[in-house]
Amino acid sequence: MAHKIRQLCLWSSLNLVAWAIAAGPSLRAQAPARELAGRLRAAARSVPGTLPTSLHYVKFAEASSPRSDLVEGADSGLVVVSFPVFQIRYPDRWIVVDAGFDRRDWTAFFGSAPVSYWPERWDTVRTLLRGASTVVLTHEHWDHAAGVERGSGLGEIAAHTALTPSQLASLLDPPAPIYVALRRDSVPAYRRLGVDTLHVLAPGVVLLAAPGHSPGSQWVYVRLASGREFLLVGDLVWNAVGLERQSQRPRPTSESLKEDRDAVRRQLQVVRALADSTGLVIVPSHDDALLATLARSGALQDHADLSRRP
Ligand SMILES: [Zn+2]
Ligand SMILES: [Zn+2]
Repeated sequence: MAHKIRQLCLWSSLNLVAWAIAAGPSLRAQAPARELAGRLRAAARSVPGTLPTSLHYVKFAEASSPRSDLVEGADSGLVVVSFPVFQIRYPDRWIVVDAGFDRRDWTAFFGSAPVSYWPERWDTVRTLLRGASTVVLTHEHWDHAAGVERGSGLGEIAAHTALTPSQLASLLDPPAPIYVALRRDSVPAYRRLGVDTLHVLAPGVVLLAAPGHSPGSQWVYVRLASGREFLLVGDLVWNAVGLERQSQRPRPTSESLKEDRDAVRRQLQVVRALADSTGLVIVPSHDDALLATLARSGALQDHADLSRRP
């Protein structure tokens, strides 16, 4: 069941955040970041129930790219770009964050650009999507959303896919070529979330609207029973170096994506401060090296857990 906290006007803390941004970089954003973390934690505790036990990801594709194509001012060394979906595992069910894409979608968007694509892992992703209690998207771009817009078993998946009004608007009317357009007659099949900035999806899982990279971008806060906390930030940055250096995508790329660069700049400050002052583990979607490091440390599990437990 979804729960909403309308009173938590989170980005009214945006007044604080705006102050921090005017005042300077990460250090000055730490007080608002701690306030934001406090609100996320309170929201995550606000509904009764067992907390998630583990956070998993399935990487079904990867490509490589010069880091300078991903982060403004970065070096041109090649880095691996991961394409994962995330599984938030409860003892008796799971939530999926992001939906990936079929191999044909890669060709549709990137033509013959090299990619490693694992069809058997994509089958696992489809099983995850079909069996989820809820599917949510960090944002509407094709590499995160196509899996809930087309493919076999779509009706079943759409019925438990929860889209925000902003996501629905951009999927119906794509603002840039990086979207798969949603068929208008398929909209009734989806669950629709309200317009809240902050939405408690389940015990320990909170959605936070973060428009910037796309109109419907949102971050997913996860608190595990162990006390470990994560913030899945989607494509706030494509590589963690961007977060460290407070550098966003190269301007021509931002412009082609129709990003709100001012919003992304503010978000980079807040998320960096969250990482520095609250201990939240920040997880961008595409940084393969970071995902692997988190898996090696045991923070993330690099496989799906499809078991059904009572
Ligand atoms: Zn994106
Ligand atoms: Zn992406």
